[in-house]
Amino acid sequence: MRILITNDDGINAPGLAVLEAIARELTDDVWVVAPETDQSGASHSLTLHVPLRLRKINPKRFAVSGTPTDCVLLATRNIMTDATPDLVLSGVNRGANMGEDVHYSGTIAAAKEATLLGVPAIAFSQVFLPDQGLKWETARRHGPGLVRRVLESEWPHGMLLNVNFPPLDPDDVKGIKVARQGKRKIGDKIVHGRDPRGVPYYWIGGLRREGMDNKGTDLHAVAQGFIAMTPLHIDLTHDASLERLKRALET
Ligand code: MN
Repeated sequence: MRILITNDDGINAPGLAVLEAIARELTDDVWVVAPETDQSGASHSLTLHVPLRLRKINPKRFAVSGTPTDCVLLATRNIMTDATPDLVLSGVNRGANMGEDVHYSGTIAAAKEATLLGVPAIAFSQVFLPDQGLKWETARRHGPGLVRRVLESEWPHGMLLNVNFPPLDPDDVKGIKVARQGKRKIGDKIVHGRDPRGVPYYWIGGLRREGMDNKGTDLHAVAQGFIAMTPLHIDLTHDASLERLKRALET
């Protein structure tokens, strides 16, 4: 099995090393193509107005001066030219990608890009509490078995997996819950001040973190001490409205 790993926290992020350790438990054929700099919040953006630079660190390790989406594109089109990857793993993100995070996350976008290219993909995130350090060992220990198990089951076209590890020590994890995307209260903090020249600035700070914790959601599963696994899909069509609008508007 040939695995491509990437992330949005950048080539030097500790979570990428954790993901590499996970991938190496599954295969020897691991390729790393990750952004030069932190691209958290980049979502599914493409770099179109400046050229991309590729820095070769070793024959299977590259840094890209762009977004996670750029990384997956360059990896599959320009780097791994002899054979496309069988699996793309993204992360392990520093912090949760639950609820509405999925729309902003570069970690999940990399998995989405792989899905668009027809390659199965899984996004991993390690949730942490502000007063604690990151429990990377939890992702590292539970990751390989989880990947093995999902690869044994059916992988429908257009589906990707979003996995969030709870902020617990590896032995305290309660298990896996397959959960739907949750919802949080809107509460983005925007810091406002003046720069040394007196010009006002605005800086998007902490993103929505207050969960509604509805049962059956990723937020609830992680709060209960489980690994949350959410199957996502690319097609954003709102099926119920499709039928309703058809009836109302089509003649
Ligand atoms: Mn990130």
